[in-house]
Amino acid sequence: MNEMDKTLPGTNKPDQILAIDHITKKFGDFKAVDDISITVNRGEIFGFIGPNGAGKTTTIKMIAGLLKPDAGQISINKRNLAEEPGICKQDTGYIPDRPYLFEKLTGYEFLQFIASLYNLDPEIFSKNTAHYLKLFDLLDWQHHLIESYSHGMRQKLIISSVFMLDPPLIVVDEPMVGLDPKSARIVKELFKNHAARGASIFLSTHSLEIAQELCDRIGIILNGSLRAIGNLDDLQLEAKTEHTDLEDIFLELTGAYELQEIIAALRSG
Ligand code: ADP
Ligand code: MG
Repeated sequence: MNEMDKTLPGTNKPDQILAIDHITKKFGDFKAVDDISITVNRGEIFGFIGPNGAGKTTTIKMIAGLLKPDAGQISINKRNLAEEPGICKQDTGYIPDRPYLFEKLTGYEFLQFIASLYNLDPEIFSKNTAHYLKLFDLLDWQHHLIESYSHGMRQKLIISSVFMLDPPLIVVDEPMVGLDPKSARIVKELFKNHAARGASIFLSTHSLEIAQELCDRIGIILNGSLRAIGNLDDLQLEAKTEHTDLEDIFLELTGAYELQEIIAALRSG
């Protein structure tokens, strides 16, 4: 983590942790993700926002190396994911929307298993697991089988497993779904803290409020295509609107035609 907040030597460009370059993903003839390009810098929280079915999870699975793009490239920490998947995955912590956890492991055993995959230093493991298990009220549950955990507890366990690794890039799909308000607050603070220390978060959400509160930059995805990207000021300019609220900007950008439906979908989700 100590090398995180540098710019590239010899340039004034911010140091990119993630570069998504013209990726497309098809399921049969259907393009779930259509020619998307996004870069994320160190220290940034990037929000990927759009209604259900827009293509967020498909994009995130490609970044996490679980799906292969049909076209385009992804680089993590300047390395091509297709060419060097092992190294790229070491740099990426992935928090899925529907985590798959081994039911017959205890929470602690699951953390040990993840730590072994990432060759985490045992001292850091002890220190970090104690910290995150306490933070999420999981200390009393750590030696119980995961099959006895609620959805929220599973979510907190997998979030703990990623933060324990302290990776330069965390990719997270709909992070607040299923969390109680206290845990959601903690997770938001963890994200902010991670970014403040020079690491990066790529998060998807269908919540405009979360995007507005947390994200330095936002990409709006609709029907597999990136409609707009930038910080709130950029999006406001692009929407040619005086509004400063993301919801209003979003409405302008997505156009009156699609407007009602999309907002309704984002609201109800
Ligand atoms: P989001 O996460 O934004 O809600 P997804 O990326 O999950 O959207 O899905 C985008 C589109 O791709 C949806 O229309 C979905 O039905 C379709 N899709 C996703 N996964 C598959 C799959 N494995 N096979 C076929 N279609 C899929
Ligand atoms: Mg999704």
